[in-house]
Amino acid sequence: MMKHRIDVMIPEDELQAKVAELGRQITAHYQGTSELVLIGLLRGSCLFLADLSRHIDLPVSLDFMTASSYGNSTTSSREVRVLKDLDDEIKGKDVLIVEDIIDSGFTLSKIRDIIGLREPKSLAICTLLNKPARREVQVPVEWTGFTIPDEFVVGYGIDYAQLYRNLRFIGKVIPQE
Ligand code: 5GP
Ligand code: MG
Ligand code: MG
Repeated sequence: MMKHRIDVMIPEDELQAKVAELGRQITAHYQGTSELVLIGLLRGSCLFLADLSRHIDLPVSLDFMTASSYGNSTTSSREVRVLKDLDDEIKGKDVLIVEDIIDSGFTLSKIRDIIGLREPKSLAICTLLNKPARREVQVPVEWTGFTIPDEFVVGYGIDYAQLYRNLRFIGKVIPQE
């Protein structure tokens, strides 16, 4: 029994086809690398990362970071804090940040800067979802799964009050009476 009505926006088969396609593109792009470090931003990217990594045919390692962003919508500025840092050094390595969804862009632009200062050999971003209508800060994104309208979505790692991450599809939450 669900607490909210959730309508399917992107069904499981479309998600899986796109994740496989992203994996093929990333594999082709990094041909010859000695190690591609996938950095998952917790917690939302973990299901996407698990599936994507299994479609990448390269020497891959995984590391994780938790960032939290405290909004101040009136000044449109935001403090991004690293709550859990990477376990390993990334200097000289090919690094791909894996994110669930880019909204305002604040989180990823700060995280991209923080990781960039550690002198990786290369740095790129792969996001499953992108909501360009809500962008406030520009951030380069090398791979995007789906561009979606300005709706609040859940599923496939993405939560509402920590629930619904285990849904196999991306859905939108419909407020109930
Ligand atoms: P931003 O790009 O605004 O800095 O932050 C992106 C983060 O906001 C995402 O990683 C995610 O945690 C959250 N977020 C953005 N849009 C949505 C949405 O539609 N649904 C949910 N559940 N979280 C979202
Ligand atoms: Mg996220
Ligand atoms: Mg969340």
